[in-house]
Amino acid sequence: MKGLLPAAERERLLAATLAGSLPDGRGRFGPFGGRYVPETLVPAFERLEEGVRQHLHDASFQDEFRRELRDWVGRPTALTHAPRLSERWGADVWLKREDLAHTGAHKINNAIGQALLAKRLGAKRVIAETGAGQHGVASAAACARVGLPCSVYMGAVDIVRQAPNVDRMRRLGAEVVSVESGDKTLRAAIDEALRAWVTDPDGIYYILGSAVGAHPYPYLVRELQSVIGREARQQMLDQAGGLPDAAFACVGGGSNAIGLFHPLLADDIELVGVEAGGTGPGLGQNAATLATGTPGVLQGSYTVILQDDDGQVQETHSISAGLDYSGVGPEHALLQAIGRVRYISATDDDALAALEELCEYEGILTALETSHAFAAAREWARENSGKRLLIGNSGRGDKDMPTLTKFPAKVRSHAAA
Ligand SMILES: *Cc1c(COP(=O)(O)O)cnc(C)c1O
Repeated sequence: MKGLLPAAERERLLAATLAGSLPDGRGRFGPFGGRYVPETLVPAFERLEEGVRQHLHDASFQDEFRRELRDWVGRPTALTHAPRLSERWGADVWLKREDLAHTGAHKINNAIGQALLAKRLGAKRVIAETGAGQHGVASAAACARVGLPCSVYMGAVDIVRQAPNVDRMRRLGAEVVSVESGDKTLRAAIDEALRAWVTDPDGIYYILGSAVGAHPYPYLVRELQSVIGREARQQMLDQAGGLPDAAFACVGGGSNAIGLFHPLLADDIELVGVEAGGTGPGLGQNAATLATGTPGVLQGSYTVILQDDDGQVQETHSISAGLDYSGVGPEHALLQAIGRVRYISATDDDALAALEELCEYEGILTALETSHAFAAAREWARENSGKRLLIGNSGRGDKDMPTLTKFPAKVRSHAAA
């Protein structure tokens, strides 16, 4: 989605972005974001917005959040140099290890932050949506930690596809609600969770899982996930001797990417978001929203979405369930429109090859989502030899074993060597 904004407006929004003054008072990132929700949901969103304003940057909330991140999530997560990959790629490669966070991905930063907020707002119970189940697991764990009952809305199709995570959620004390409406996957689960929220906006807190949806969620999730980029920035200075020339992150809804990028926006660093290129460029073959989509409203936010000429939201495809979404967070739509972040895609095959390479050369089984960032970084390294790059390693790949088993591993014999 390029060429949408006049040059002067682009300049103004770039300056506002670098000054950290977005979103504006109406939850807008330039033309994107805002709050497009039915009348019945307005009170719930207004209450949440007020709660965020009151508590999020309050010292006692931040102390508690930092303590939980340290003692329960296991932060700071490591910054790992990748010497063998660096030699292969001809660049200096560093990994920010969100795979080492509790429950195996960055999602826990957001889940525990919002669970703590739910407590402060006096919620009696929590609801959450999940697609692949990763955010459901993080929410279930966070709710157990703070002592709030948790119901996770999940599409009936996903419940079958992601059985191990359904089991994990239940063991962590959550109720899993099967959603039989709509496409019976993530989009329907979000709609159903919103419907449940309306029934008791004072008693229920809704933990949304990515930097998407109506204001204040994209802002709230960014603030909670920015710990990734703040840590990584300092760790690069301490361990690598300087900031990277480029940073890469995969983009589904965009929460790990905005968490890594946001604290780096004002630095002279090339930022690259990598979407799921699926099996090809055709509508329905991928989830490359920013690369191929158009502006529209999805789930309460004006952003870039995958839709046909009649405005019908399209089904998506990706080998990684966590990138398989037809929208993207509104702040990413702006960062693309003002040219601060470049968004590209990597295909299923590229991601699989990158996953194997990282296993073989660094001993890290990364998530299929994350593998898209590696595939793009590898391409970049080819044209930028000797430069320093940082990759957001958003999660671990153990959850992907059922998918990976369909692509048999190489059988090796080392005995004779
Ligand atoms: C869910 C998930 C993603 C995609 O979500 P974002 O909000 O775009 O970060 C990426 N990586 C991993 C490991 C995930 O679990």
